[in-house]
Amino acid sequence: MNTSVVWFKRDLRVHDHRPLFEAGNFDQVIYLYGFETEVMESREYDASHHGFIEESLSQLHGLLKKQGGGLTVKIGKFPQILSDLYQQLGFKHLFSHQETGNMRTYQRDIRVANWCRSEGVSWNEYPQFGVTRPQKEGGDWSSLWSKFMNRREIVPRRLPHNPLENYPQTIPLDQTDTKTRRQRGGELRSIKTLESFLNSRGEHYQKSMSTPVLAGNACSRLSPHLAFGNISLRRVYQRTRDQQAFVRHHRLPNWGVSLASFQKRLNWHCHFIQKLEDAPQIEFDNFDFEYDGLRSSFNEHYFSLWSKGETGYPLIDACMRCLLHTGWINFRMRAMLASFSANHLWLHWRKPAVFLARHFLDFEPGIHYCQFQMHAGTAGINSMRIYSPIKQVKDQDPNGEFIKKWVPELASVPSEFLAEPHKMTIFDQMAYNCKIGRDYPKPVVDHEKAYKSAKEKLFGLNKKLVVQT
Ligand SMILES: Cc1cc2nc3c(=O)[nH]c(=O)nc-3n(C[C@H](O)[C@H](O)[C@H](O)COP(=O)(O)OP(=O)(O)OC[C@H]3O[C@@H](n4cnc5c(N)ncnc54)[C@H](O)[C@@H]3O)c2cc1C
Repeated sequence: MNTSVVWFKRDLRVHDHRPLFEAGNFDQVIYLYGFETEVMESREYDASHHGFIEESLSQLHGLLKKQGGGLTVKIGKFPQILSDLYQQLGFKHLFSHQETGNMRTYQRDIRVANWCRSEGVSWNEYPQFGVTRPQKEGGDWSSLWSKFMNRREIVPRRLPHNPLENYPQTIPLDQTDTKTRRQRGGELRSIKTLESFLNSRGEHYQKSMSTPVLAGNACSRLSPHLAFGNISLRRVYQRTRDQQAFVRHHRLPNWGVSLASFQKRLNWHCHFIQKLEDAPQIEFDNFDFEYDGLRSSFNEHYFSLWSKGETGYPLIDACMRCLLHTGWINFRMRAMLASFSANHLWLHWRKPAVFLARHFLDFEPGIHYCQFQMHAGTAGINSMRIYSPIKQVKDQDPNGEFIKKWVPELASVPSEFLAEPHKMTIFDQMAYNCKIGRDYPKPVVDHEKAYKSAKEKLFGLNKKLVVQT
């Protein structure tokens, strides 16, 4: 029998899945997902990711079964997992999507490529995003991106059967998922999420995306689905393009600007992943080596307060606590958390970035490490923002709705004090049932001093730098 293997990685869907389509030409196919022990042991992996993958696999298995297939789920290391299957069925073709992951998965792919070469197995990898490999010197990236996004989606067809079907419902992990309010995985859920965004939730996307009070509903919330490939970026792009034509035709107010802004971000998604594809070392090293040694010591106490949401800055603490419960916060608040750790607390970006990677349900290495470095000021760009945790309260949560939800110690404190509760007099603290230093912490650092110091140090290395709050 002519056998092939489809290796599912971060592409847990059947629709618009080229490897699945290509494998359909064989007599029998092993539809493989491998839980990788070395990924599960990494500091970027959280029980919430594990749960999201299990939910995605459950829907994937159901959809494959409808097409004639069914999953084979393994736990272990690659290429050993492939080698074991090879002993059983001696396949000659492996199909998968390309992955621009972290160093672990990059090195695993090198091992798999070597194994395939030694066994005479052909490994056919297909791009799943608008990321080019290798990036063509002088090539027009944007037109390649558009070409990829506008190519027709691949519709699933009848699939050959899987002779080694084996789908356990769960794979044990020695951590508990504490994100009680996170999004759940699966292709069908991703389609519902997209449709609810394009048909109702997204109308005020453009003006609501920055405030944590509204962003949870107004943003698409597609990020974990894109990170684990429950839906293809091309499908999201094309559905949005069609919806743009619809709202134009019907002259629907607000939608035009919101959908244009959303479409732009789909391009940024690939733009940042391309950066990691071209320079994998930015997962560990400063983009610009001029910044090496800038933050030489690491204050563990500051890191601990930041990571628990106990800095004494209400919006920082609310964002961190929200993240720890839900696995998501909006872009502006992520930027503020990253900026605060790197600039106010003067922590080297790597450890806080790994911490957030673990807690972002949508962790996508290319976007994540680039964005973190941009907000730490190590990307070598000439303008950056050091977000003021005080001004952001006034701009993004003036009535304190978000803060009070996640920092209940401040529930009785009037909104006028929420940006700087430590400025309440002792009488105010008694009146509002919140003693600073006992019920809620004093600020870990003084904002004005920390901001000024960070700005001076960064400016010392880049005279063209323009820093705003
Ligand atoms: C420090 C930091 C770390 C981040 N880490 C991640 C990460 O690990 N994974 C991740 O998907 N996004 C990351 N982002 C980008 C952004 O915050 C999230 O994509 C967004 O909040 C996800 O919610 P959404 O799907 O509702 O976004 P929407 O606003 O609805 O955007 C739709 C999609 O566009 C892409 N996108 C949106 N904003 C950006 C951006 N600024 N850069 C690149 N792509 C973007 C994402 O794929 C997103 O799902 C990070 C931002 C910062 C500042």
